[in-house]
Amino acid sequence: MPEPSDADRRKAAQLDPAFAGARLIDALERGWEIGFRCQYCGTGKTWRRDTMLGRARRYLNCTMTEIQARLPCPRCPGRMPIMTMSGVIDPGDAERRRWATISLLLDTGLNPTDYGYGWTPAAQPTR
Ligand SMILES: [Zn+2]
Repeated sequence: MPEPSDADRRKAAQLDPAFAGARLIDALERGWEIGFRCQYCGTGKTWRRDTMLGRARRYLNCTMTEIQARLPCPRCPGRMPIMTMSGVIDPGDAERRRWATISLLLDTGLNPTDYGYGWTPAAQPTR
């Protein structure tokens, strides 16, 4: 079988637009699992919640496109892994997920405002 060309690899790595612009923190909030597969050596890995809050936490503010461009393969110098997500694109009840994510970040010792969560005066209940 011929070796895939660079164009083949770019095409294989192309992300769905709805997924490409999502940040890792959005994936965490929506309960997604992110799969990676190296196009050169075939090494696969999956990021679940514990990875996102652990060794991948520096990518929480990055979009899937940025992560794909930055993440090296753990086994070879291959770049541009094929990325997949599993989970529901819109699991509903955004407000509840938002609060659950804020408390999860706080429990992990991360500052929710660093990831775009926060309280603004306008969001305070009026009385
Ligand atoms: Zn590899």
